[in-house]
Amino acid sequence: MSLEVPPSAQPHCAVHPDVLAGGTCSRCGAFVCADCVRFPLGSERVFCVACSKRPEVDYLEAFRLEHWGRRDSWAWTVGMLTLSLLLGVFLSLASGGAPSRKEWLFSALYLASVPVGGAFFLGRPWARPALVVTPLVLALGAGVLEPAQRIHHLLSALPFMFVAVLIHRDVRNRLFFRQPVTPGALAAMWNRLRNNPIARQAFHFGLSGLLMPLLSPLAVVCGVVGLFRVKPQAHPPIGRRGQALAGIVLGVLSPLLWVLVLLPYLDQHFGLVRKD
Ligand SMILES: [Zn+2]
Ligand SMILES: [Zn+2]
Repeated sequence: MSLEVPPSAQPHCAVHPDVLAGGTCSRCGAFVCADCVRFPLGSERVFCVACSKRPEVDYLEAFRLEHWGRRDSWAWTVGMLTLSLLLGVFLSLASGGAPSRKEWLFSALYLASVPVGGAFFLGRPWARPALVVTPLVLALGAGVLEPAQRIHHLLSALPFMFVAVLIHRDVRNRLFFRQPVTPGALAAMWNRLRNNPIARQAFHFGLSGLLMPLLSPLAVVCGVVGLFRVKPQAHPPIGRRGQALAGIVLGVLSPLLWVLVLLPYLDQHFGLVRKD
């Protein structure tokens, strides 16, 4: 006699009735086969295909879609800078007497960057790489117009090149341009923006409170609220317990430090308290 269960009595995949199931979805309980089983990033549970697409399950995908094609602060910054550049060039040409040939050439050079800035603001794909090379092109162009100042122009362009590279690598800005981002980069961005930000704020207030004791009560309040929000078992998991606790501890300690140590010290050396 065999104890083996006949294949007809074994559970089959809810989507593929011919295939034996290997497990069940932790949300809806449906049987899933090896092809249908899903492990969303950041989750230790198993889901079926349909459930894995739900925003509360695949929260990183929902987070990505939330920012997909939406203008970020870098795009606004570049747009505003482009507008100010345009105004600046026109005002400098309009003010004073007739512009010299060199002034015309410099104006034309700077105006050449306006389409790049405008296209960047509008999210045109070509503007992403163009923005990275624009400061260098402007510096080289200025060097041609003023050969004696070539090094000076290149050096003044360096900070702009640095920021342009930062923008190019920024995950939030990539999402505005509908560029693919790695799951790890998306998870890091989610962690920065959504993982218990009030607990992180508590920590920052706590540190600042060492210099500005008026911020200490804020550190304690944010720390307590942040501590209540910590839920490592939830999906998505909410962490930063350490930062919430650090905020509370610093928030309590720094007023004590000021009253017991710093105020007597300042009084002794600078006579803050009037002596009768
Ligand atoms: Zn399911
Ligand atoms: Zn299946």
